[in-house]
Amino acid sequence: MLGMIAILVLMVSGFFAFVVFPSASLSSETAVREYTRLLAANSPNLESARKISQVAHVEVRYEGPGEEWATSTALPSIEQVREGRMRTSLGRHFYLENAPNGGTYLVVWNFADQMHATHVRLLWMLLALIAFVVLTTYWIQKWHLRPVEALSAGMTRISGGDLDVTLPVLGQDELARLTTGFNYMVSRVKQMIVARDQLLLDVSHELRSPLTRMKVALSLLPTNAEKAGMNSDVNEMETMIAELLELERLRSPNGLRREKQDLVPILREVARSFEGRPPGVWVAANCKPVLVSLDGDKIRRLLRNLLENAFKYSFPDSLPIELSAQQADGTIVVRVRDDGAGIPGSQMSSIFEPFFRVDPSRSKKSGGYGLGLSICKRITEAHGGTIEAQNNHGRGASFIVTFQVT
Ligand code: ADP
Repeated sequence: MLGMIAILVLMVSGFFAFVVFPSASLSSETAVREYTRLLAANSPNLESARKISQVAHVEVRYEGPGEEWATSTALPSIEQVREGRMRTSLGRHFYLENAPNGGTYLVVWNFADQMHATHVRLLWMLLALIAFVVLTTYWIQKWHLRPVEALSAGMTRISGGDLDVTLPVLGQDELARLTTGFNYMVSRVKQMIVARDQLLLDVSHELRSPLTRMKVALSLLPTNAEKAGMNSDVNEMETMIAELLELERLRSPNGLRREKQDLVPILREVARSFEGRPPGVWVAANCKPVLVSLDGDKIRRLLRNLLENAFKYSFPDSLPIELSAQQADGTIVVRVRDDGAGIPGSQMSSIFEPFFRVDPSRSKKSGGYGLGLSICKRITEAHGGTIEAQNNHGRGASFIVTFQVT
């Protein structure tokens, strides 16, 4: 937009400088030269020259036998002009004319003064024109780019996880085709995600019975190292399936049993359950009760998952994990801050996806399936809240859960 304004101003200035100004100057110059000739032929005295000066916007000097006068003290002498010491400049012209009595008249025509008022008027008109052109162009451009604005808003919603986006298709041009393509793409992605979730749910359900049968069969085997290994594998599978089913259950809107309660005792209770594990955990909640309508069991699960991760990814020399709750501006912010490995910036937006692990080998060692944070996200969203992760300035990561006070 600024570039467009600059080009317009340059074009108009160029037009005035190279077309309007020279042609106006040329035609006026011929008229003034003729006027000077007439003036000299009439041999005016100082008084009549002053009158002429006021009416015609010219200054006159006369130097002749026995008489010398000038309508302005700022005029150069005739000799200076004759010797070429006073040069005609843009907007200031000098004309010399001999009078019949042997004297000489110098007429100075100040084109710039004369044109000043006209220029000021033109300038204002021009600025108004530029403003009109710029505003009209801006409005037309904005009107044409409505689909792009809608697409950008749609993208923002999708990147925030909202796939219920259908953009209105305006017109029939390329942008309309792009919008149609975008809507189709979103609906396909949504179908694929629904199909993936359904598949996970079905597989989890189907695996429960064979797993139970395996557990029964295992319990009948004699106790040995192999049985212990198989037991641990079966338990691992059972935990994963339980987490997957819980993830699906949390999707249902009636999955919560909410009641108004103080969040701080829940924080303390969950923190106590990790007592004795290095690097330790402390609750930094303010003393006032933080009342909020929530499902206590689900919030305990959420906090346990976040704390479990904070412990898992802490180093032996890490500072104790900090758990805090603060109420401000109609929201309650729960924060779990650790001094551990932190999260690579590029992975930050993916860690809440099911089965996502930053470093599969590291998580495998520490026993994670990449489901913990997706459960946290579902629990938070079921409460109408948001969850985000940030790396701390020094070391480690913070998970911030925000609930509205209802
Ligand atoms: P997992 O059960 O594998 O830990 P999560 O869903 O809980 O799965 O976490 C997903 C990934 O996010 C983890 O694999 C880990 O790389 C990363 N992550 C989660 N919490 C932390 C944390 N506090 N510090 C560093 N990385 C973390």
